Amino acid sequence: MIKTISDYCKEKFGTKVYRLALTTGATCPNRDGKVGVGGCSFCSEKGSGEFAINAENIAEQIEKAKALVCAKMPSSVKESERKYIAYFQSFSNTYGDTKRLISLFKEAIQGDEIVALSIATRPDCFSEEMFDSLESLNKIKPVWIELGLQTVNENTARAFNRGYTLDDFEKTYDELKKRKIEVIVHMILGLPGETKEDMYATSKYLSKKKIDGIKIHGLHILKGTRLAKEYEKHPFKIMSLVEYTEVLINCLKILPESTIIHRMTGDGDKKLLIEPRWSADKKRVLNYINKRIREEFL
Ligand code: SF4
Repeated sequence: MIKTISDYCKEKFGTKVYRLALTTGATCPNRDGKVGVGGCSFCSEKGSGEFAINAENIAEQIEKAKALVCAKMPSSVKESERKYIAYFQSFSNTYGDTKRLISLFKEAIQGDEIVALSIATRPDCFSEEMFDSLESLNKIKPVWIELGLQTVNENTARAFNRGYTLDDFEKTYDELKKRKIEVIVHMILGLPGETKEDMYATSKYLSKKKIDGIKIHGLHILKGTRLAKEYEKHPFKIMSLVEYTEVLINCLKILPESTIIHRMTGDGDKKLLIEPRWSADKKRVLNYINKRIREEFL
């Protein structure tokens, strides 16, 4: 059995919950020179948050994000029943002035309709003050921290310029767990040079850590990234949809049943996508993955 984020939200909040893509305006220490320049080799200029809207004021951002989400919602969902997660996705949202960031997070969870706060970041962007403040916020509404890891293989991580070690990840992860904050870990399948065994090793590590949630997606090669240049010079094997799905299923089988599956595939900006071409057909990809998941787990 696996539990998806939609099952989990229905259980926890009693209804389907929609994500509002918000921005803190933060950058990333792997781009601004503090840790590195140019970022992770696969990262596009928008900081892996292709769909976040751009506005300074949180209340205004929330209204705009709600309008976008509601336009796609079935009309049967009454306004009074709509619940949302305030989601800070782009770049490293715990990087920068802690007081300013915490004040944005506090503002974002004010409305009764906002049921949780989700913050994507890197493990090397936490101060003691940030840990303390997140712990306090978590007592008001659930705080979910999304931590990038992608792989436990240090050679792969160095090659794509991650800029932090597994040890850095582990320290931050343990500190967040000590403070009872839910942690969702990002993992990428198909990183250059990785074998299936490398990917299963990452899954085994995350299984031992009993992570709360996972977001898995395939490597996307996007125009304008360092990875695109590397791929042009030295093309490497890209997994087919069938291969990707089989590795994904094996990774999910390694994880404990308690780990919530937030994502099983990603969809990069189609205008920038070089490979894998199959990932552009989101409907076909989801249909195939869901069919295989049903066959394996239900
Ligand atoms: S840590 Fe995230 S935002 Fe920073 S360079 Fe890597 S992928 Fe991009």
